[in-house]
Amino acid sequence: MSDGRGTGSSQRWEPVIGLEIHVQLKTRTKLFCRCEAGWGAEPNRRTCPVCLAHPGTLPVLNGRAIEWTIKLGLALGCRVAERAIFHRKHYFYPDLPKGYQISQYDEPLCVEGRVSVPGPAGDLEIGIVRAHLEEDAAKTVHVGGAGGRIGGAEHSLVDFNRGGTPLVEIVTRPDLHSAEDARRFLQLLRQTVIELGVSDAEMELGTLRVDANVSVRRAGEAALRTRTEIKNMNSFAFVGQGIQAEAERQIGIWESGGEVVQQTFDFHAGSRTLTASRSKEEADDYRYLPEPDLVPVEPSRELVERLRAELPELPGARIRRLEGAVGLEAAAGLVTGGRDRLFERVVAAGIEPRAVGNVLMNQFAGTGVDPEAVDAAELARVIEARDRIPRSAFVEALAASGDPGFSAGPYLADAAVSDAAELEPIVERVLAANEAQVAAFRAGKQGLLGFFVGQVMRETAGKANAKVVSELVRSRLER
Ligand SMILES: [Zn+2]
Repeated sequence: MSDGRGTGSSQRWEPVIGLEIHVQLKTRTKLFCRCEAGWGAEPNRRTCPVCLAHPGTLPVLNGRAIEWTIKLGLALGCRVAERAIFHRKHYFYPDLPKGYQISQYDEPLCVEGRVSVPGPAGDLEIGIVRAHLEEDAAKTVHVGGAGGRIGGAEHSLVDFNRGGTPLVEIVTRPDLHSAEDARRFLQLLRQTVIELGVSDAEMELGTLRVDANVSVRRAGEAALRTRTEIKNMNSFAFVGQGIQAEAERQIGIWESGGEVVQQTFDFHAGSRTLTASRSKEEADDYRYLPEPDLVPVEPSRELVERLRAELPELPGARIRRLEGAVGLEAAAGLVTGGRDRLFERVVAAGIEPRAVGNVLMNQFAGTGVDPEAVDAAELARVIEARDRIPRSAFVEALAASGDPGFSAGPYLADAAVSDAAELEPIVERVLAANEAQVAAFRAGKQGLLGFFVGQVMRETAGKANAKVVSELVRSRLER
């Protein structure tokens, strides 16, 4: 990064990114009525006069949603307000039957938080402006026309099942400076939410939604330039691509002497492009008014302290704890993949940490086995024997390791072929069949060793000991 004293366009540009994250709480019922929340019902079955906004109905606040919001706020290092109130946020849309959304405005439940995200150059400190509670709108489906969007659609359908489900909106300070920072932060946040048990936080299902506010500035510049907002990025990869694309677009505009205009963009995953959707509303446009049908929320000290005491050890702290044993990236991968507790149990059974980390991050991760279902002592036996048993037996054992009553025994009995006398003729056959590769190897292409080993493994249906094969091939070719 430049020290800021450079001149003109030689100075580097720095993205400035703030995120708005919506987390759908998995409470049993909706925020202001007793309709069931959650997925899977036929459209418009989970509705009642309250969430359909019939005249004369009144909202009744879901106490669990309040507790979960406080818990999440505490996990994000927030201060819990002694008094929070709900506001009506007015706008018109077919999925909003009241004509306003009940949200929180200038007195939100949780404020002024801070999250430490372990990164390669120390912790990223991300400020949290607020975490507030609001109701979700219903879901609109645009049929026909251009890619599910309202413009050009033949007609639109509204499913009110989602209307009124509780959302926590988390707003960060613009403390992120790359798509990579944003990914690290979001993965940590997602894992935190999952471990608190307050949401499934599935981006693909929309139970975790991320909007990004992006601006750019020259390194060393203190002031913020005009920002834009990107929506509709429904995976971590798309968040990164969207931020990257928008930062590059803005740099291009500033460098060609233009002016970035404040507006909102939709991200299109297929083409990785952004299209302007609307100019961004200001708070004034929403005509925020205090919600007269709900009393202020005043969480007692006792409640807040009880919820604080219930917080588990948080993912960020666990990444730092494991980092020394396996390195930052593996530690972050184990924790955000929900496999670090299994890692610790297997290591406690006496297996070398890096080997355990490697297997859990690679071969085990590919099996889809629930880490919580695994008997760590049995898995430890499998990992310990990984060089002695055939590759195929190893992979099968990992895939079965979550089965009730799983035992490593039968897989360990399946010994790999390590006998040189048995393997040598196969090695000879493979070398004879691949003369060009043999010549290339002898000319210095050492990387081909893996190719020969792979061929021998195929000939033996994965039963050969790869280490022995590798030594045989090498000694044969280096003669
Ligand atoms: Zn309802």
